[in-house]
Amino acid sequence: MTTLNPDSNPMLAWGEIPRFDAMRAEHVGPAVRATLARCEDELAALEADAASLSAPDFLGRLEALGDRLSWTWGVANHLNSVRTTDALRDAIAEVQPEVVTFSSRLGQSEALFDAFRRHQESGAVAAMEAAASRVVALAIRDAEHAGVGLRGAAKDQFNANQQELAQLGMDFGNAVLDATKAWELVLTDTADVLGLPDSLRQLLAQQARAAGHEHADAERGPWRVTLDGPVYVPFLEHAERRALREQVYRAYVTRAGPGSAHDNSERVVQILQKRREQANLLGFATFADLSLAAKMAPSVDGVEALLKGLHDASKPAAVRELAELTAFAREHGSTDELALWDIGYWARRLREARFTYSDEDLRPYFPLPRVLDGLFGLVHRLFGVTIRARPEVTGWHPDVTFYDVVDERAVTIAGFFLDPYSRPADKRGGAWMNECRGRTRRLPASDTAPGGVRTPIAYLVCNQTPPVAGSSGTTPSLMTWNEVSTLFHELGHGLQHMLTEVELGPVAGINGVEWDAVELPSQFMENWLRHRPTLASFARHWQTGEAIPATLVDRVLAATTFRAGSGFLRQLYFARLDLALHHDYDPRGSRTIWDLQRVVAADNTVVAPLDEDRFLCAFGHLFAGGYAAGYYSYKWAEVLSADAFAAFEEAGLDDEAQVSAVGRRFRATILALGGSVPPMDVYQSFRGRAPNTDALLRHNGLAS
Ligand code: ZN
Repeated sequence: MTTLNPDSNPMLAWGEIPRFDAMRAEHVGPAVRATLARCEDELAALEADAASLSAPDFLGRLEALGDRLSWTWGVANHLNSVRTTDALRDAIAEVQPEVVTFSSRLGQSEALFDAFRRHQESGAVAAMEAAASRVVALAIRDAEHAGVGLRGAAKDQFNANQQELAQLGMDFGNAVLDATKAWELVLTDTADVLGLPDSLRQLLAQQARAAGHEHADAERGPWRVTLDGPVYVPFLEHAERRALREQVYRAYVTRAGPGSAHDNSERVVQILQKRREQANLLGFATFADLSLAAKMAPSVDGVEALLKGLHDASKPAAVRELAELTAFAREHGSTDELALWDIGYWARRLREARFTYSDEDLRPYFPLPRVLDGLFGLVHRLFGVTIRARPEVTGWHPDVTFYDVVDERAVTIAGFFLDPYSRPADKRGGAWMNECRGRTRRLPASDTAPGGVRTPIAYLVCNQTPPVAGSSGTTPSLMTWNEVSTLFHELGHGLQHMLTEVELGPVAGINGVEWDAVELPSQFMENWLRHRPTLASFARHWQTGEAIPATLVDRVLAATTFRAGSGFLRQLYFARLDLALHHDYDPRGSRTIWDLQRVVAADNTVVAPLDEDRFLCAFGHLFAGGYAAGYYSYKWAEVLSADAFAAFEEAGLDDEAQVSAVGRRFRATILALGGSVPPMDVYQSFRGRAPNTDALLRHNGLAS
């Protein structure tokens, strides 16, 4: 066996709290290769011994080898996402293919698959802790969905289709990028940019300079409009010249469409065809059936029933909102019927007329230290745990803080690194929670809690406004509403990882949680921002200590449900079209995908799409991402999180004893059980019943 010495290479300190300050790019290659060599030896030995091992020994050895690799590979990739350098990126790219090869070998091992099946059938797994059954069930399901059970020609066909689907997805994504890049509209007349905010003019001038208009200037032009999201969306919301909005809109919805240089329409059909074939080979009638077999939602019919309920509640609201918008546009001088390219523009005007506040009005009330106090206080009230900084642990940057999570008995049960600020030079954008190490009793660590438990550790990464040093001292990070909400969201994910009580890695914390249930704890935490006493407990002016004005809170909260019916209907249109394409569409039938789009649009839009609308040709979620027959998950998770929050509303949000009792139940079920129990069972054990849409509709003003 290879010797792995963590003293000479900190990326080999398997299972420990990583010492990021000691890690260098040159550690990556040797650490990953040594770890892979060790894991390959262990895998070969495990495959050889599998037939004679007891179920606990088999699962224990498998967990150890997976955990060793994911710790080392995890810290390297984490460091690359928060403190990247060219050397680090290159070092990771160099060993990545070896990691991928090992992972597929592990995932497709027939010896392991046979062992899983044998232990399940013999009842050996059932005799272990409850989580073991779920580990084995998920492993068997994933291997079956990866084609492990296929033989001969069927297997060859399946593998060939997988390769083709990967290629088609990549080509689809590239064509969308190319089609987006290929289109531009260069404006030179100041009349053409009337209404555009200064920030957008700056962006358009910058895009013009990048395209060779060297002297482009925000005030004098030229301005280059493109179909990139950060340009397209605000352009349609602000451009006063209607004909220009129409031109840009039409270009957007026909992007990568038939007849264009980057036509995706054939690829869409091929992808749908191949997916149907894969599902059939695995014994499912449609790809939607296959997709839902690995999700929380029970079935296509179950999802459709939920979507229909939301549709019936939101469509009348969307119709009203359109009438209201039309009236508002008339009052403000519009003489036209509202077209698709007018809606964003007038909705923005109406929003401005109703809710006059900006991010800048809110920031002074949300300094990061107070927001953290409020958030940690909320977590203490709900779940009984205390979060406190442990300054001895250094992170990868001076801005990073390590926190311990301490339970009622003063035992440290988890920890997390928080990296709050934007650092565009070396840190990836967006916000995320990731696993640093998971909870387990089986694997070694030098800092185990009583009972030999290795405590879980998380990374929480945001990209919010940094503090500013000035002549009169430092201004703390003053946060926008979205930044506060993001922080609550990510800690919600973190709590599911950290407050797990499961000790089998593959189903501890967020591991093994179905795709459409993952956003439950995160969105749940966001709900607390709508509870005024919780908000008031920490939203205070960073200099004067004055509470946030109630009128400002009113406007912010009202704005979160502005045109909720239209927003819902738009998501439902996408979700139902996705299901129709992956369930009802027959690639060999006479009905085209455009026919199907028209049928779904008729019921799920209030202004019908253009006849030439081909937005599916650029719908990367479905054809170049992971949302195929899963787009409904956005709404599904909102239903769950709103319904979970309603359990607190029903108990009485201002009744501390009740809030604490329901909070402890949330902790004992959704946070503690994580992926160890099927998600609908976890949910029912918290709520005492299946989820329903009432709370989500009520929170959005859509309840009848
Ligand atoms: Zn999330």
